[in-house]
Amino acid sequence: MKNMNLKTISLLAIFIGSYYFLHSLATTQNIANSNQEITTQSIQPNLISKFTLDSLQTHISQETYLTLFQEEETKVWQEFKKTIDISLAECNQIKQKWYSYYLNDAKELQERGKSLTPLSAKTIEIIQSVMKDFNIDQNAIAVIPFEDYCPAAADDYSLFVNESLFNRLTPLAQKFCIAHELQHFINKDDSTNYVLLQHYTEEKSELPADHPLNKLSKIQELRADLGAASKNKDYALGYKEFSKIALEIVGDGEGITHPKNTLRISYADLCIKSEIA
Ligand SMILES: [Zn+2]
Repeated sequence: MKNMNLKTISLLAIFIGSYYFLHSLATTQNIANSNQEITTQSIQPNLISKFTLDSLQTHISQETYLTLFQEEETKVWQEFKKTIDISLAECNQIKQKWYSYYLNDAKELQERGKSLTPLSAKTIEIIQSVMKDFNIDQNAIAVIPFEDYCPAAADDYSLFVNESLFNRLTPLAQKFCIAHELQHFINKDDSTNYVLLQHYTEEKSELPADHPLNKLSKIQELRADLGAASKNKDYALGYKEFSKIALEIVGDGEGITHPKNTLRISYADLCIKSEIA
Protein backbone atom coordinates (compact mmCIF):
# COMPACT_ATOMS: atom_id res chain seq x y z
CA MET A 1 0.00 0.00 0.00
CA LYS A 2 1.72 3.12 -1.19
CA ASN A 3 0.74 6.67 -0.45
CA MET A 4 -1.91 5.60 1.94
CA ASN A 5 -3.70 8.40 3.62
CA LEU A 6 -5.79 6.45 6.06
CA LYS A 7 -8.23 8.04 8.40
CA THR A 8 -7.19 7.75 11.99
CA ILE A 9 -8.76 5.53 14.58
CA SER A 10 -12.05 6.69 15.94
CA LEU A 11 -12.24 5.15 19.37
CA LEU A 12 -15.20 3.14 20.48
CA ALA A 13 -16.42 5.23 23.33
CA ILE A 14 -19.11 3.96 25.60
CA PHE A 15 -21.62 6.49 24.43
CA ILE A 16 -22.10 9.24 21.95
CA GLY A 17 -22.69 12.79 23.05
CA SER A 18 -19.81 12.61 25.44
CA TYR A 19 -19.20 16.35 25.29
CA TYR A 20 -22.54 16.81 26.93
CA PHE A 21 -21.64 14.09 29.37
CA LEU A 22 -18.75 16.10 30.70
CA HIS A 23 -20.67 19.33 30.57
CA SER A 24 -23.54 17.88 32.53
CA LEU A 25 -21.32 16.12 34.98
CA ALA A 26 -19.83 19.42 35.98
CA THR A 27 -23.23 20.71 36.94
CA THR A 28 -24.92 17.58 38.19
CA GLN A 29 -24.12 16.60 41.71
CA ASN A 30 -24.12 13.08 43.00
CA ILE A 31 -26.06 11.56 40.19
CA ALA A 32 -24.89 8.18 41.24
CA ASN A 33 -26.63 8.66 44.58
CA SER A 34 -29.77 10.08 43.09
CA ASN A 35 -32.90 8.51 44.49
CA GLN A 36 -34.88 9.28 41.42
CA GLU A 37 -36.25 6.04 40.10
CA ILE A 38 -36.22 5.68 36.37
CA THR A 39 -38.58 2.91 35.40
CA THR A 40 -38.98 1.27 32.05
CA GLN A 41 -42.74 1.54 32.18
CA SER A 42 -42.78 4.46 29.81
CA ILE A 43 -40.89 2.56 27.14
CA GLN A 44 -43.07 1.53 24.26
CA PRO A 45 -42.81 -2.18 23.54
CA ASN A 46 -42.12 -1.53 19.86
CA LEU A 47 -38.94 0.31 20.78
CA ILE A 48 -37.46 -2.98 21.86
CA SER A 49 -38.50 -4.87 18.74
CA LYS A 50 -37.11 -2.08 16.57
CA PHE A 51 -33.66 -3.59 16.71
CA THR A 52 -35.24 -6.76 15.26
CA LEU A 53 -33.67 -8.91 17.94
CA ASP A 54 -37.25 -9.72 18.75
CA SER A 55 -36.76 -12.63 21.07
CA LEU A 56 -34.80 -10.40 23.44
CA GLN A 57 -38.17 -9.05 24.49
CA THR A 58 -39.03 -12.13 26.43
CA HIS A 59 -35.91 -14.17 26.72
CA ILE A 60 -32.23 -13.59 26.76
CA SER A 61 -29.53 -16.17 26.90
CA GLN A 62 -25.97 -16.31 25.72
CA GLU A 63 -26.87 -18.65 22.83
CA THR A 64 -29.93 -16.69 21.79
CA TYR A 65 -28.35 -13.32 21.58
CA LEU A 66 -25.14 -14.53 20.00
CA THR A 67 -27.13 -16.27 17.25
CA LEU A 68 -29.24 -13.18 16.76
CA PHE A 69 -26.19 -10.96 16.51
CA GLN A 70 -24.69 -13.27 13.93
CA GLU A 71 -27.87 -13.04 11.85
CA GLU A 72 -27.96 -9.25 12.10
CA GLU A 73 -24.29 -8.96 11.36
CA THR A 74 -24.59 -11.20 8.30
CA LYS A 75 -27.26 -8.89 6.90
CA VAL A 76 -25.09 -5.79 7.43
CA TRP A 77 -22.10 -7.46 5.80
CA GLN A 78 -24.27 -8.28 2.80
CA GLU A 79 -24.90 -4.54 2.52
CA PHE A 80 -21.17 -3.80 2.69
CA LYS A 81 -20.54 -6.39 0.00
CA LYS A 82 -23.17 -4.81 -2.23
CA THR A 83 -22.08 -1.21 -1.70
CA ILE A 84 -18.32 -1.22 -1.15
CA ASP A 85 -17.59 -4.80 -2.18
CA ILE A 86 -16.09 -5.97 1.11
CA SER A 87 -17.08 -9.14 2.89
CA LEU A 88 -16.21 -9.87 6.51
CA ALA A 89 -13.44 -12.25 5.41
CA GLU A 90 -12.04 -9.61 3.03
CA CYS A 91 -12.18 -7.03 5.80
CA ASN A 92 -10.10 -9.32 7.99
CA GLN A 93 -7.57 -9.77 5.17
CA ILE A 94 -7.31 -6.00 4.75
CA LYS A 95 -6.81 -5.67 8.51
CA GLN A 96 -3.72 -7.84 8.18
CA LYS A 97 -2.41 -5.80 5.26
CA TRP A 98 -3.00 -2.52 7.06
CA TYR A 99 -1.78 -3.83 10.39
CA SER A 100 1.15 -1.41 10.61
CA TYR A 101 -0.99 1.66 9.83
CA TYR A 102 -3.50 0.75 12.48
CA LEU A 103 -0.78 -0.04 14.99
CA ASN A 104 0.91 3.33 14.37
CA ASP A 105 -2.34 5.13 15.04
CA ALA A 106 -2.95 3.07 18.15
CA LYS A 107 0.54 3.82 19.45
CA GLU A 108 0.08 7.52 18.82
CA LEU A 109 -3.04 7.45 20.96
CA GLN A 110 -1.15 5.62 23.69
CA GLU A 111 1.62 8.24 23.56
CA ARG A 112 -0.84 11.03 24.25
CA GLY A 113 -1.72 9.39 27.54
CA LYS A 114 1.87 9.43 28.74
CA SER A 115 1.82 13.13 29.54
CA LEU A 116 -1.32 12.75 31.66
CA THR A 117 -1.66 11.88 35.33
CA PRO A 118 -1.42 8.09 35.65
CA LEU A 119 -4.56 6.26 36.66
CA SER A 120 -4.96 5.61 40.37
CA ALA A 121 -4.17 2.25 41.92
CA LYS A 122 -7.86 1.89 42.75
CA THR A 123 -8.96 2.30 39.14
CA ILE A 124 -6.24 -0.07 37.93
CA GLU A 125 -7.41 -2.60 40.49
CA ILE A 126 -11.02 -2.37 39.23
CA ILE A 127 -9.85 -2.75 35.62
CA GLN A 128 -7.71 -5.75 36.48
CA SER A 129 -10.55 -7.45 38.34
CA VAL A 130 -12.81 -7.02 35.30
CA MET A 131 -10.07 -8.34 33.00
CA LYS A 132 -9.80 -11.36 35.24
CA ASP A 133 -13.58 -11.91 35.11
CA PHE A 134 -13.37 -11.95 31.31
CA ASN A 135 -10.20 -14.06 31.14
CA ILE A 136 -8.13 -11.32 29.54
CA ASP A 137 -4.40 -11.38 30.14
CA GLN A 138 -3.28 -8.16 31.84
CA ASN A 139 -0.47 -7.80 29.32
CA ALA A 140 -2.79 -8.12 26.34
CA ILE A 141 -4.14 -4.58 26.56
CA ALA A 142 -2.52 -1.31 27.60
CA VAL A 143 -4.43 0.76 30.11
CA ILE A 144 -4.06 4.45 29.29
CA PRO A 145 -5.41 7.64 30.85
CA PHE A 146 -7.16 9.99 28.43
CA GLU A 147 -9.09 13.22 28.50
CA ASP A 148 -11.75 12.60 25.88
CA TYR A 149 -15.18 13.38 27.15
CA CYS A 150 -16.32 9.91 28.07
CA PRO A 151 -15.49 7.56 30.96
CA ALA A 152 -13.79 4.90 28.82
CA ALA A 153 -13.00 3.85 25.27
CA ALA A 154 -11.11 1.04 23.57
CA ASP A 155 -9.31 0.06 20.41
CA ASP A 156 -7.59 -3.21 19.57
CA TYR A 157 -4.58 -2.43 21.77
CA SER A 158 -5.65 -0.08 24.52
CA LEU A 159 -8.25 0.65 27.10
CA PHE A 160 -8.57 4.38 27.70
CA VAL A 161 -10.04 5.73 30.92
CA ASN A 162 -10.96 9.28 31.79
CA GLU A 163 -10.70 8.90 35.52
CA SER A 164 -12.48 12.10 36.49
CA LEU A 165 -15.59 10.89 34.63
CA PHE A 166 -15.10 7.26 35.56
CA ASN A 167 -15.10 8.21 39.24
CA ARG A 168 -18.58 9.65 38.89
CA LEU A 169 -20.00 6.19 38.15
CA THR A 170 -21.18 3.79 40.85
CA PRO A 171 -18.84 0.85 41.55
CA LEU A 172 -21.01 -1.60 39.58
CA ALA A 173 -21.45 0.89 36.72
CA GLN A 174 -17.64 1.20 36.64
CA LYS A 175 -17.25 -2.56 36.30
CA PHE A 176 -19.86 -2.65 33.56
CA CYS A 177 -18.23 0.28 31.75
CA ILE A 178 -14.84 -1.48 31.63
CA ALA A 179 -16.45 -4.80 30.67
CA HIS A 180 -18.29 -3.07 27.80
CA GLU A 181 -15.04 -1.65 26.45
CA LEU A 182 -13.29 -5.00 26.81
CA GLN A 183 -15.95 -6.54 24.55
CA HIS A 184 -14.84 -4.13 21.81
CA PHE A 185 -11.27 -5.26 22.43
CA ILE A 186 -12.26 -8.94 22.28
CA ASN A 187 -14.30 -8.49 19.10
CA LYS A 188 -11.69 -6.20 17.46
CA ASP A 189 -14.52 -3.84 16.56
CA ASP A 190 -12.31 -0.79 16.23
CA SER A 191 -10.04 -2.16 13.52
CA THR A 192 -13.10 -3.40 11.61
CA ASN A 193 -14.52 0.11 11.64
CA TYR A 194 -11.09 1.48 10.76
CA VAL A 195 -10.95 -0.60 7.57
CA LEU A 196 -14.55 0.10 6.58
CA LEU A 197 -14.31 3.84 7.22
CA GLN A 198 -11.53 4.18 4.66
CA HIS A 199 -14.06 3.37 1.97
CA TYR A 200 -16.21 6.39 2.65
CA THR A 201 -15.37 10.03 2.13
CA GLU A 202 -17.63 11.18 4.98
CA GLU A 203 -16.62 11.12 8.61
CA LYS A 204 -18.56 8.63 10.71
CA SER A 205 -20.50 11.39 12.46
CA GLU A 206 -21.78 12.63 9.07
CA LEU A 207 -23.25 9.34 7.91
CA PRO A 208 -27.04 8.92 7.70
CA ALA A 209 -28.67 6.93 10.49
CA ASP A 210 -29.47 3.98 8.24
CA HIS A 211 -25.94 3.76 6.85
CA PRO A 212 -24.54 0.22 7.12
CA LEU A 213 -21.65 1.53 9.23
CA ASN A 214 -24.13 2.88 11.76
CA LYS A 215 -26.06 -0.38 11.66
CA LEU A 216 -22.83 -2.23 12.36
CA SER A 217 -22.02 0.15 15.22
CA LYS A 218 -25.38 -0.54 16.77
CA ILE A 219 -24.68 -4.27 16.67
CA GLN A 220 -21.19 -3.75 18.10
CA GLU A 221 -22.50 -1.55 20.92
CA LEU A 222 -25.39 -3.78 21.88
CA ARG A 223 -23.13 -6.83 21.67
CA ALA A 224 -20.69 -5.06 24.00
CA ASP A 225 -23.52 -4.18 26.39
CA LEU A 226 -24.93 -7.69 26.51
CA GLY A 227 -21.56 -9.40 26.45
CA ALA A 228 -20.65 -7.40 29.56
CA ALA A 229 -24.02 -7.58 31.33
CA SER A 230 -24.54 -11.30 30.80
CA LYS A 231 -21.40 -12.17 32.76
CA ASN A 232 -23.17 -12.23 36.09
CA LYS A 233 -25.71 -10.36 38.20
CA ASP A 234 -23.23 -7.64 39.23
CA TYR A 235 -22.54 -6.73 35.63
CA ALA A 236 -26.25 -6.79 34.80
CA LEU A 237 -26.95 -4.45 37.72
CA GLY A 238 -24.00 -2.30 36.63
CA TYR A 239 -25.53 -2.10 33.14
CA LYS A 240 -28.71 -0.70 34.62
CA GLU A 241 -26.89 1.74 36.91
CA PHE A 242 -24.68 2.92 34.07
CA SER A 243 -27.63 3.41 31.70
CA LYS A 244 -29.61 5.32 34.32
CA ILE A 245 -26.69 7.65 34.95
CA ALA A 246 -26.21 8.13 31.20
CA LEU A 247 -29.92 8.86 30.77
CA GLU A 248 -29.75 11.47 33.51
CA ILE A 249 -26.70 13.11 32.05
CA VAL A 250 -26.96 12.93 28.27
CA GLY A 251 -30.63 12.11 27.86
CA ASP A 252 -31.94 9.24 25.80
CA GLY A 253 -29.53 9.65 22.89
CA GLU A 254 -30.26 9.34 19.20
CA GLY A 255 -30.10 5.57 19.11
CA ILE A 256 -27.97 5.67 15.96
CA THR A 257 -24.70 4.07 17.01
CA HIS A 258 -25.52 3.21 20.62
CA PRO A 259 -28.86 1.90 21.85
CA LYS A 260 -31.01 4.62 23.41
CA ASN A 261 -30.50 4.80 27.15
CA THR A 262 -34.12 3.88 27.90
CA LEU A 263 -33.64 0.81 25.73
CA ARG A 264 -30.40 0.01 27.54
CA ILE A 265 -32.28 0.14 30.85
CA SER A 266 -34.91 -2.29 29.57
CA TYR A 267 -32.22 -4.64 28.23
CA ALA A 268 -30.50 -4.41 31.62
CA ASP A 269 -33.77 -5.42 33.27
CA LEU A 270 -33.93 -8.44 30.98
CA CYS A 271 -30.36 -9.37 31.91
CA ILE A 272 -31.12 -8.97 35.62
CA LYS A 273 -34.21 -11.16 35.31
CA SER A 274 -32.67 -13.77 33.07
CA GLU A 275 -31.18 -17.00 34.26
CA ILE A 276 -27.72 -16.17 32.95
CA ALA A 277 -27.02 -13.02 34.95
ZN1 LIG B 1 -19.04 0.84 23.07
